[in-house]
Amino acid sequence: MNKTIKILPEHLANKIAAGEVIQRPASAVKELIENSLDANSKSIKLIIKDGGKELIQVVDDGDGMSADDAVVAFHRHATSKIETYEDLEAIKTLGFRGEALSSIAAVSQVELRTRRKSDMVGIKVRIEGGKDSQIMEDACPAGTSVLMRNLFFNTPARRNFLKSNSTEYRHIYDVVQRCALSYPDVAFQFYSDDEIILNLRGSDLSDRLRDVFGEAHFQTLMPVISDKESVSISGYIGQPQFARRGKAEQFLYLNKRYIISKNLNHAVYQAYEHLIEKGSFPFFIIFISIDPKKIDVNVHPTKMEVKFDDESSIYKMILTSVRATLGKYEMIPQIQLQSRDMHESANLTRLTSPPSQIRRFTDVNQQSLNVKPSGLTSTESSDKSYASSNALSNEASAQQAEVIHWDVRQLHKKYIVFNSSDGLTIIDQHAAHERILYEKFRTRLIKEQKTSQQLLFPQTLQLPPGDISLVKELQGEFESLGFTIKFFGNTTVIIDGVPSEIKAGTEGNILQDVLSLYKDDRQEISMKPSERLAKSLACKAAVKAGDLLSTNEMTSLIDQLSSTSIPTVCPHGRPVSMNLTIEELDRRFGRTS
Ligand code: ADP
Ligand code: MG
Repeated sequence: MNKTIKILPEHLANKIAAGEVIQRPASAVKELIENSLDANSKSIKLIIKDGGKELIQVVDDGDGMSADDAVVAFHRHATSKIETYEDLEAIKTLGFRGEALSSIAAVSQVELRTRRKSDMVGIKVRIEGGKDSQIMEDACPAGTSVLMRNLFFNTPARRNFLKSNSTEYRHIYDVVQRCALSYPDVAFQFYSDDEIILNLRGSDLSDRLRDVFGEAHFQTLMPVISDKESVSISGYIGQPQFARRGKAEQFLYLNKRYIISKNLNHAVYQAYEHLIEKGSFPFFIIFISIDPKKIDVNVHPTKMEVKFDDESSIYKMILTSVRATLGKYEMIPQIQLQSRDMHESANLTRLTSPPSQIRRFTDVNQQSLNVKPSGLTSTESSDKSYASSNALSNEASAQQAEVIHWDVRQLHKKYIVFNSSDGLTIIDQHAAHERILYEKFRTRLIKEQKTSQQLLFPQTLQLPPGDISLVKELQGEFESLGFTIKFFGNTTVIIDGVPSEIKAGTEGNILQDVLSLYKDDRQEISMKPSERLAKSLACKAAVKAGDLLSTNEMTSLIDQLSSTSIPTVCPHGRPVSMNLTIEELDRRFGRTS
């Protein structure tokens, strides 16, 4: 074939481009609403018929267009929103590619009516399949109305691809909801097949959330906020107990633009780590605002994917601010010990709210929990500094502390029970120690400050080839945790040193135990290998149910647990502690006071 290169006529080029921008009725709705928002509208009305297949109309009270602009607007790459490359580098509007109106006109029958407030008379433009436009004066209200009929009438293949009316309707609903949530000051009305679906007054975010999701749902939300020089984060997150199976409602916005980012969603999940079941997802609506120069929204025609200059710092900001909210609202409940006048511990207050209620019952500058053959070591030092702290505080509090000290009991060599400020707290000793060690190991892996104990008699282990290669793969992590491992031949491992938390006499087994747990835990693919290893090691090194603990060991455990980031759940997601309040006891005993 001897074909020469020709430039496509504009209407044909538009038809091709339309495929990227307008995939279904919901994409047209999104583009039209975004245009209305860019035009500073305060009220937007959307009308659809048959899931948008038959008719979509968006009416706004925004800036409107001049007669000339109304005609030009249908040309491809016609935009009033950017002029120079510098503008493209710092997009402040939702649109900027000048593709929507031309695409919509290319694949439907469009009627645009628009008038600027300053103009006496408006203009009407009719255009069908991107051709044969008719232009006439029109007595329309200020603002713009775009009416489109028979989407994809001239591309039957694509029209056939559309789903049922109800599916297309749902997609449209999602689009309206997303826009309405990021522009709470704009009133939205949404009609589908003559039925009013949404009627939202212009207000603020909290009222908008109430109007969209209902008061009851709103009551389960907690505000998130974080401000830095160039980035700010705000919004609401759901309480963990209201997390939904499957994807719940999750809204992430960048400079008021709804975006999709697996990575940043993960930052939120990470903050909820262990607070919700696997497979459940928390509600969140998070707004990131950032200097538009530091992002690139021109990655994809639908503009829902975005590139950040520094995504990892935004990830961290989301993680920290969501965690802070969860902590503040006591979603990470505290182990509160009953004591009034004792010194406040700095590392306890960072977790709690209100901080003034949190007291530690000793002022011991506790050393790390050393695990010796008997399990948890009761440290003499704990008693000593306990005494010195008594000397510092008054008599009454000393007595108070004494009482609490004695109030800690072990139950069936499994649970630790003690008086808490509002009732009775029960701790699972294994799960608690596991949480403590897990966090300790994790920090060690990050900071690489290993604490190792040399073994007097190095342990020799025979391992199957698969395990040998796994140990080799994880050797760096094992060593940061405190192991000293050498390989001998293809099947033998020699352990010269182990983390100082490992009980004497169990050094040989610990490596094998950890390996098998690590392998069992393969489904934890979202976890980094080092974290998985920390989790396995914590489980194996922690005191077990059946280990007898002394009072000092128990108080030390409680103390250290209080300083972990999530004292209520173990790394596997099991509960660590439970609180039975006096009110609950009163209720059960049928007491009125
Ligand atoms: P973009 O939004 O990327 O600029 P569009 O094809 O969506 O491209 O719109 C083209 C132009 O038409 C816009 O830049 C704007 O000037 C004008 N326009 C579109 N819709 C409206 C509206 N609802 N109100 C005022 N002007 C509009
Ligand atoms: Mg646009």
